[in-house]
Amino acid sequence: MSAELRIRNLEKRFGATNLRPAVDDVSFTIAPGEIVVLLGPSGCGKTTTLRSVAGLEKPTGGTIDIGGERVADPVNKRFVLPQHRNLGMVFQSYAVWPHMTVEQNVAYPLRHRRIGKEQTKRKVDEAIEIVGLGAYRERPVVALSGGQMQRVALARSLVYRPRILLLDEPLSNLDAKLRLRLRDDLRTIIKDAGVTALYVTHDQSEAVVIADRIGVMKDGKLLQLDDAITLYNSPADVFVANFTGAGTLLAGRVERVAHGMALVQLDDVPYSVRTRVPDDTAPGDRVLVSVRPENVHLETERREDGEMAGIVKSLQYEGTQTAYRIMVGDKEVHCTELGTRPRFAPGDTLFVWIPPEVCWAFHARAGTAT
Ligand code: ATP
Repeated sequence: MSAELRIRNLEKRFGATNLRPAVDDVSFTIAPGEIVVLLGPSGCGKTTTLRSVAGLEKPTGGTIDIGGERVADPVNKRFVLPQHRNLGMVFQSYAVWPHMTVEQNVAYPLRHRRIGKEQTKRKVDEAIEIVGLGAYRERPVVALSGGQMQRVALARSLVYRPRILLLDEPLSNLDAKLRLRLRDDLRTIIKDAGVTALYVTHDQSEAVVIADRIGVMKDGKLLQLDDAITLYNSPADVFVANFTGAGTLLAGRVERVAHGMALVQLDDVPYSVRTRVPDDTAPGDRVLVSVRPENVHLETERREDGEMAGIVKSLQYEGTQTAYRIMVGDKEVHCTELGTRPRFAPGDTLFVWIPPEVCWAFHARAGTAT
């Protein structure tokens, strides 16, 4: 029963038209059974997008289709009420009935749906099994942990086979340990249920674990929607690059370009890196080269193909890896090295080498990338 969700040019303005819209020309499609996570800082418009799909907000522009049915289209005055959209919703606060048992909670939504006793039991059993609460079905919900309550809420929103499951920061009220456990289970639960899901979070690691594709939002705009590997390795702009992981930006000037790759002479250091660049890059362009800390290599000796001399400013030992801050001239370069013992100490001099083709560049002016 899972359905496609199709959003086109969605806009939501609260109040005055001269203010920036909370959701600004957002378009994306979620395939049946796919999990898309909207990721972004507080206020970027992800909750408003989700609430528009739910029917809890009336969009001011664009269209929303669920399973081919148009549920919102302000221009043509079409708006399907939330209760007629057949969606499941899970929010931060566990919306469960504390005085009822797990089973009664999960069965609750079926009460109003004129479903026979046998069928109700089968559906409830199935939903409780999917969320892994088989051993707790008779327990009153008050006797459960926060993580288990959130599983009850999840089972309750899956029991009537919604066309789409909407989840808004469902893990944020849990303590860190429970959050990690349920995070790892959530993807399996949603996939087992086979339901299309739209999931909202500001937590990057949560998004990576749960999503098939992640949409990064900022100021009401959807900047990029891709799988986690593409987002991490080919971010569309500086904001996405920074939001999806640490790194260093190195300013420079393009020397040569061919086939989407360029040789960039870095400012202030006698070093050129080979990097992917946007298609419209030309020799002479100013660019910002982005490099992830795990791609920066630290060497004790000079290399034939060039390197940058640096000095260790500080380090943070993290058990299985060490994160270094290296000063190369005036520029601080971040580097992580795997290993249970740090190879360098603060004050050590070393050589920084960036292998070809692990970086990408943005136009210095626009901040757009390949
Ligand atoms: P958070 O993670 O903090 O919930 P978000 O990315 O989900 O943030 P939204 O809640 O969608 O962001 O809010 C987007 C923008 O719309 C914000 O600037 C917010 O202040 C504004 N906004 C949201 N709801 C309303 C409302 N009912 N009335 C006026 N402005 C609103």
